[in-house]
Amino acid sequence: MSRYFAKSSKWLALDLLRLMQSRSSRKRPAEKRAAAEKEEAAMVNGLPTPPCGLLTADAARSLVDSVDAFLFDCDGVIWKGDKLIEGVPETMELLRKMGKKLVFVTNNSRKSRRQYSKKFRSLGLEVTEEEIFTSSFAAAMFLKLNNFPPEKKVYVVGEDGILEELKLAGFECFGGPEDGKKNIKLEADFYFEHDKSVGAVVVGLDQYFNYYKMQYARICISENPGCLFIATNRDPTGHMTSAQEWPGAGTMVAAVSCSVQKEPIVVGKPSTFLMDFLLKSFSLETSRMCMVGDRLDTDILFGQSTGCKTLLVLSGCTSLPELQDASNNIYPDLYTNSVYDLVELLQK
Ligand SMILES: [Mg+2]
Repeated sequence: MSRYFAKSSKWLALDLLRLMQSRSSRKRPAEKRAAAEKEEAAMVNGLPTPPCGLLTADAARSLVDSVDAFLFDCDGVIWKGDKLIEGVPETMELLRKMGKKLVFVTNNSRKSRRQYSKKFRSLGLEVTEEEIFTSSFAAAMFLKLNNFPPEKKVYVVGEDGILEELKLAGFECFGGPEDGKKNIKLEADFYFEHDKSVGAVVVGLDQYFNYYKMQYARICISENPGCLFIATNRDPTGHMTSAQEWPGAGTMVAAVSCSVQKEPIVVGKPSTFLMDFLLKSFSLETSRMCMVGDRLDTDILFGQSTGCKTLLVLSGCTSLPELQDASNNIYPDLYTNSVYDLVELLQK
């Protein structure tokens, strides 16, 4: 009995298939090579190419030619915590020299625009308050635009940035870091008092988040008639320090949202609210802007929904495998490692 008949029919079929494939490859080596090359070209990092373009020298040139303004996210794009990302000063210098308008749009509500301008200066970057759009500023502007009654107060689950922007806009507010020191004890018959004149609760990133604030926010939203529930943003994580990622404002928003069984009004990215303000400040067309960010579900979505071109940088919280993952359905126009690639590619 030949060795083939000694095998199961399954193995016999496989052997025949291999034989046919080897014959066919001998017959059509050029075709096979072309197919293999095509298959290889369709892979990045061992995974299928994302349906968006890698920033090449040609793509970089065509991008800068087609836009008048670059909108930069900050965490993970300009800096990580208090550490500047390599090549940022050179990139900003080159783009400014090319006559491009630079705008910084951040969801991080911990600082006000004045405080961010100070941070930029401390990192050796000259950026004015007018070039900075934060979600803390967006929260204050949302209340102003919606004629929030001056006799009402705002309760803040967040940090100084929100309190400062609200005060600058003329609103009375409280909470913030101060309430981070307050504790409660869940004892029998304990009744939690709250201010009935609170007409809005603003929730943002809060390193002093605690059970006291959760209850204050919950009770105002649930019991004060018409009380607004505003979220600066819903980022699940962020590079709050250069060493690692931390829970983002979205985690605090989720806690309050769960306790009131209500969805908030989101004023930061990907909401288009900030863009309305930006357009009032600068006479620019969104089609002539490029949003540069490290998050798909905030930066890139914000850029897309406002009609900007979009560039994802992999220097922050999105990795290439995450961009390529089958569960992802948000794709930028272009992607690259970091903003400094623009400088390197434009010099080629
Ligand atoms: Mg970011």
